[in-house]
Amino acid sequence: MKVLFVGDGQLGQMLGASGISHGHECLLYSTRSHEVKPLSAQVSLTWSLAEAIEWADVVSWEHEAIPADVIAAADGKFLMDPARIKSLTDRRAEKKLFDDCRVATSPWQSYSTAAELDKLLSKASEPLVLKAARGGYDGKGQWRFRAGDDRAACVAAAGNEPGIVEHLIPFEKEVSIVGARGKDGSVCCYPLITNVHTDGILSYSLAGIDEIPAALQQQAEDAFHRLTDALNYVGVFAIEFFVVGEGAAAKLLVNEVAPRVHNSGHWSMSGANCSQFDLHMRALTGMPFPELRIEPTLMLNVIGAKRIPVGLWHHKDAQCHWYNKEPRPGRKVGHVNIRTANQDTALTWVEQWASKLQVLS
Ligand code: ATP
Ligand code: MG
Ligand code: MG
Repeated sequence: MKVLFVGDGQLGQMLGASGISHGHECLLYSTRSHEVKPLSAQVSLTWSLAEAIEWADVVSWEHEAIPADVIAAADGKFLMDPARIKSLTDRRAEKKLFDDCRVATSPWQSYSTAAELDKLLSKASEPLVLKAARGGYDGKGQWRFRAGDDRAACVAAAGNEPGIVEHLIPFEKEVSIVGARGKDGSVCCYPLITNVHTDGILSYSLAGIDEIPAALQQQAEDAFHRLTDALNYVGVFAIEFFVVGEGAAAKLLVNEVAPRVHNSGHWSMSGANCSQFDLHMRALTGMPFPELRIEPTLMLNVIGAKRIPVGLWHHKDAQCHWYNKEPRPGRKVGHVNIRTANQDTALTWVEQWASKLQVLS
């Protein structure tokens, strides 16, 4: 099969590598430089976007901000409605999807102008998180506000752009579910992953290491079915949640979704019998999903660091991935998967390496 991926970042590269190992032909389309690129090569083909689309049997993506010209030109080559997927880049549409699907989320309201935001903040009785409707990632485009804070400064920071305000959730922890939905509606999900963020950026994920109650897994899979069914989705999809309450009272609130492969699924490259990239390829090409088996794995992001220390490259329990990107503070440039079954040992790894691997600002 010939697959064209929209986007040529690390997710596109890892998708393409999986596609090629499955015997498919893959090209990446850079939405920044508008070049069509063969996998992992710095060179571009001389092909135009139109030629690449003509060549492809199917068009998929590494990120959901699918340009309008691709949507128009690749009509019929997508496995679902790309405009519906693109609409999820707006937090207002995303939150409405949660409400429409009756998936619990932090209470929210949208605003269109600075004046509307000011009015919402003037009535704030709960601590709030403001999020720009578009363009936010790694915690950018977000502001916190509580009654008594400098309202004018907060409104000025958010600018005269549309957005949402939602309640700040005092969560126990953050988890995500990563799974895939096939063309036939079949679904297959990994166990819930625990995610720890620093300054709004994913610092590390634990898969199969800490205790996850079966009831939470059930809630997460239920949300996965509802949301992906509503979108008629095909491929890998991720949902980020807050866990609120403890023990039997614990429940999930959805934070946001990613209609694509996701950073919190990178552990699966070494910790599962089928990685999230392989799952995506299986979904795109109509192959059945395997029964997923996983090995306890810690995924530690490499953020802003100039290199991964040689001690990690050589470690027998570590698998290092370097994205070949220019390091800048706060920019994800790689990740390291570490086999470790015990939570204390995992946290020792984090303590030992996070400060060497992560330059946040
Ligand atoms: P990503 O890189 O995951 O796409 P993002 O910029 O889209 O991030 P969110 O996932 O919405 O942003 O928020 C980043 C982090 O900020 C969350 O993982 C969480 O730690 C914190 N956060 C966001 N919203 C809330 C909230 N309502 N209550 C408490 N914490 C929140
Ligand atoms: Mg996000
Ligand atoms: Mg997030």
